[in-house]
Amino acid sequence: MQTLGIIGGGQLARMLVLQAAALGVRCQVLDPNPDAGAGQLCQQIVADYDDIEALRALSDAVDALTYDFENVPAAALQQAKLGTKLSPGVSVLHVAQDRLKEKQLFQQLGIEVGGFHAVNSRTDLLEALDQTGYPAVLKTRRMGYDGKGQALLRQQEDLERAWQQMGGEDLILEAFITFQQEYSIIGVRNRAGEVRCYPLVQNVHEHGVLRCSRVSLAQNRRGQNSLGQNWDQLQTQAETCLHAIAEQFDYVGVLTLELFLCDGRLLANEIAPRVHNSGHWSIEAADCSQFENHLRAVLDLPLGPVTVSAEALMLNFIGTMPDAQQLLQVPGLHWHDYGKQARPGRKVGHATLCGTDLAQFRQRLQQLVSHRPFTQLWTLLQDLQ
Ligand code: AMP
Repeated sequence: MQTLGIIGGGQLARMLVLQAAALGVRCQVLDPNPDAGAGQLCQQIVADYDDIEALRALSDAVDALTYDFENVPAAALQQAKLGTKLSPGVSVLHVAQDRLKEKQLFQQLGIEVGGFHAVNSRTDLLEALDQTGYPAVLKTRRMGYDGKGQALLRQQEDLERAWQQMGGEDLILEAFITFQQEYSIIGVRNRAGEVRCYPLVQNVHEHGVLRCSRVSLAQNRRGQNSLGQNWDQLQTQAETCLHAIAEQFDYVGVLTLELFLCDGRLLANEIAPRVHNSGHWSIEAADCSQFENHLRAVLDLPLGPVTVSAEALMLNFIGTMPDAQQLLQVPGLHWHDYGKQARPGRKVGHATLCGTDLAQFRQRLQQLVSHRPFTQLWTLLQDLQ
């Protein structure tokens, strides 16, 4: 039996552990939270991410190592000398942990991005704003996630408020992108350099947090998206970007690239060197989920198919879990409770709604949104095919 160590024990690790069980792989996680979601399902080392001895102990106990979030301190991983056991490796973390380096890498690889400027002082900020104009988005370079560590600047007053809150940190100012849609591309690369990409996922965010993700069977046929654009063209562009990034790091595992669709062009926003929230639909609506493909890559097993096998919509549960008694009556709804305490703004679970064709999917969706708390989601969903 193979064993896998996961640094980070949140919901992503939990879903990896669930899938690992099916592959006969035993997992152990390292997380400072004694009640970590993944730790409820497998052995856990309760320790800080920069505890070198604990990282070494985990490494000694397993055949392969991975991580479930990109803010694990890269310096600690390096110091713990985890070597080739760890995939993805440390080099991608140095970039994924810093929004400025990320954007610079995109440019270096010829991947289109919106305007951005490094901001280390108030003068830098004013100069950068001269270039971008309002609105613009001010973000911390490091440790931002789920809309945290960023502020939308619409006018001078916002600038003052944001500067008071974020002024002490290394920042980046981004031009505000008036995108028509948001997408992510999720790909997997193995040690031999083979790359497979799932179809583009369309995402809807609210206050910087992912609310829902949609994939359709039309994407296998490479038809058109809801804006009348050719899926083939968009998919090819996104895959080219993902390939370039994966090659750059000799990457092993699942890699995600978030994109804005703006006037027919895809602009890169950020990368996540891990399985991603926008890929959860693949558990039920792909022959081989992102979790299984990540495990296959890091454990050096053959990669699995990445085509869509159903119409699917993933809905995040944020703050609290909704009423299972009501929602489990909706046919084709797959339930995932992460075993977390309810807390405002926290991702506590998700559900994926599937249908075998568009007519059945839409009927089920009507049924789903007739239930509170999803009635208000209807307007958000209009944008999705
Ligand atoms: P991020 O943490 O960079 O993924 O940002 C979270 C969400 O905020 C994105 O998915 C977008 O919906 C929005 N956002 C971030 N940056 C920009 C930008 N430069 N222009 C417009 N919207 C943005």
